[in-house]
Amino acid sequence: MVVSLGRRSLFVSCLLAFVTYLYWRETQRKRNVLYALEDEKESLALAVAGSDSYAWRLKKDKMIFDSFLGKKSDLESYSLDVSVFCSFIHPSFLPQVESILHRDMIDGKRFVELQCDFDGKGYQWWELRCSTMKSIFGEQKTTGLLLNIEEYKKREQELIEAREVAEKAELKESFLANMSHEIRTPLNAIVGFSNLLASPDMEFSDEEKKQFIDTITRNNELLLKLINDILEISRIESGYFSFNNEDWSLAAVVDEIYQTHSLLMPRTLEFSLEKGDGTVWVHLDRDRLVQVITNFLNNAAKFTTKGYIKLGWNYVEERHEVELYVEDTGIGISKSEQKVIFSRFYKKDEFVQGTGLGLFICKVIVEKLGGRIALSSEVGVGSRFSVFFSAEKRDF
Ligand code: ADP
Repeated sequence: MVVSLGRRSLFVSCLLAFVTYLYWRETQRKRNVLYALEDEKESLALAVAGSDSYAWRLKKDKMIFDSFLGKKSDLESYSLDVSVFCSFIHPSFLPQVESILHRDMIDGKRFVELQCDFDGKGYQWWELRCSTMKSIFGEQKTTGLLLNIEEYKKREQELIEAREVAEKAELKESFLANMSHEIRTPLNAIVGFSNLLASPDMEFSDEEKKQFIDTITRNNELLLKLINDILEISRIESGYFSFNNEDWSLAAVVDEIYQTHSLLMPRTLEFSLEKGDGTVWVHLDRDRLVQVITNFLNNAAKFTTKGYIKLGWNYVEERHEVELYVEDTGIGISKSEQKVIFSRFYKKDEFVQGTGLGLFICKVIVEKLGGRIALSSEVGVGSRFSVFFSAEKRDF
């Protein structure tokens, strides 16, 4: 009996000691977790404070911030009405912000970059992040972060500007490299053949001399055209060139272009005019448009040996615009070539007469005139170069 009593009390004591140990261990674990949590909170707060960031949650129509946004503004409280918050935002960003803070917003994460002026010292860039979900009670829960991204935006702008400068320099470099190549080629021919003709030690037949003189003349013309084209581009691009836009009726001017080119077209080609319906008026610089169409016609004649060349126009009723086109049954242009054909100095064949600047100038002119340029072509079938401009159909 005494022995069993002793055993029982020993068992109870052991149990008590074990329970006490478990309790002590749990308390230690809890304390450690609390310390860790406190630590984490502190470092998070430090990080947030250092980065000018504010956590917030939406409660009814109020935004409750984790720290005193009042430091940034004259506000007296950590919480402010959505409407008050919106009053610090630049008006152009309001629709976006209102849509993400809307009470009925569906679940999801959104963020918007916006400009706010919290302290009356001018607008700065901020990022408003927002996350919305349904709580277990079925209510909408919206929380988010407000981050100052002014420095980041400044760096971004600096990078954009630096890239633009680098791109311009690269463009200038490649333009100059192209230019010197294009100028040197005819110049070398002129100098070379002139030297040959002037050389006292060499005898040439009349036939040879004629060939040399033809080459010199051809390259003189090419050089002159090149210089004129380059001067034209720089005048247009620098804005020194003024466009003289006037109202005029299209049909008569297209007729005139047709008459002029009828005399110049090779006899082997059929050259025709396709007129649109009615009297169409445009508001454009007439000489510039004639220049563009002339360039299309000269190219068509250069790259077409049989078939036809058509000059035409038609009014596109639904878009209130007119299409002027030059269609040919020439060599055609491949899809890959079509992508670069309007670039400076593009020539498929280096030995073809021309500077490779004509279509580039056409594109610049058409864009300056407020129109657009288009090309449809198939190798071996032909090409159609078009320009589109706003136009009006009138009965007089
Ligand atoms: P250029 O001023 O030397 O005439 P363009 O810019 O007008 O140069 O034309 C560039 C190149 O586009 C030509 O060398 C030719 O390869 C191609 N091209 C232009 N028009 C036509 C056309 N109607 N048919 C086929 N190729 C064409």
